[in-house]
Amino acid sequence: MDIQVLGVRGLPLIQKGDDLPRLICERATFEDGDILCIASSVYSKAKGYTRRLDEIVPGERAERIAAGTREDPRFVQAVLDSSTEILLEYPFILSAVPCGHIGVRAGVDHSNIEDDRIIYLPPDPMAAAADIRDGVHRINGRDIGVIITDTCGRAFRRGQTGIAIGWSGMTAINDYRGDTDLFGHVLEITEEAVVDEIAAFANFVMGESHQGVPAVIFRNCGRWKGHDDIYFAAAEDIIRCALKETAKR
Ligand code: GDP
Ligand code: MN
Ligand code: MN
Ligand code: MN
Repeated sequence: MDIQVLGVRGLPLIQKGDDLPRLICERATFEDGDILCIASSVYSKAKGYTRRLDEIVPGERAERIAAGTREDPRFVQAVLDSSTEILLEYPFILSAVPCGHIGVRAGVDHSNIEDDRIIYLPPDPMAAAADIRDGVHRINGRDIGVIITDTCGRAFRRGQTGIAIGWSGMTAINDYRGDTDLFGHVLEITEEAVVDEIAAFANFVMGESHQGVPAVIFRNCGRWKGHDDIYFAAAEDIIRCALKETAKR
């Protein structure tokens, strides 16, 4: 594979109502099969999934958690509002969001937006990816894949990486089960989370601060077969179960 990775330069500061597919297609050309990665932060800004902190009234739980984490209670309330289940309150909130993703502070973000505002994750990131994919197709007729990314911390290791929170036009997982290795052994376990691998490299190209590159195009990634069940069911997720046990004590 001879993969090309192209950051989309020259995009403006994104405002509510902006047509992201249009803005991107004015600055980039696409080929069928390309994969377009978009930072969730700009998708959310374009769709208005942002809020002013002074519109948020923190409840009792937010006040209590914020006292421990030394965060703004209004920010903590936004995290609680985004969450379907809180797995950890301290030293940071770790929670599940409606799409199944589990992350620190529910992905609520206060970077790359005005001082008094916060950015929520898109509530339905799979639909967000499909929406961008359709938008590009309507503009230039290209059949591309789209991945909505966010920067996210990991268990066990220091340092954040990009992950895929929504995707369209490909399966999340390249399922190697049943394939044979170089020695003819049948693979029994390997399901490669390709959308996360691509999202991670896209995140590297985007940067985290003032780079202004919220869209990255991957060309010639090939195709793979698999499935979209990237999230463990709650009962089979041993780390989630262990955290819940810890929280009970
Ligand atoms: P997140 O990972 O989804 O939280 O997004 P980040 O805040 O880390 O931003 C990812 C990339 O997009 C960085 O290069 C930012 O500078 C860039 N970015 C964020 N918001 C905007 C925007 O409104 N316009 C442009 N042009 N770039 C942005
Ligand atoms: Mn950010
Ligand atoms: Mn983010
Ligand atoms: Mn980021």
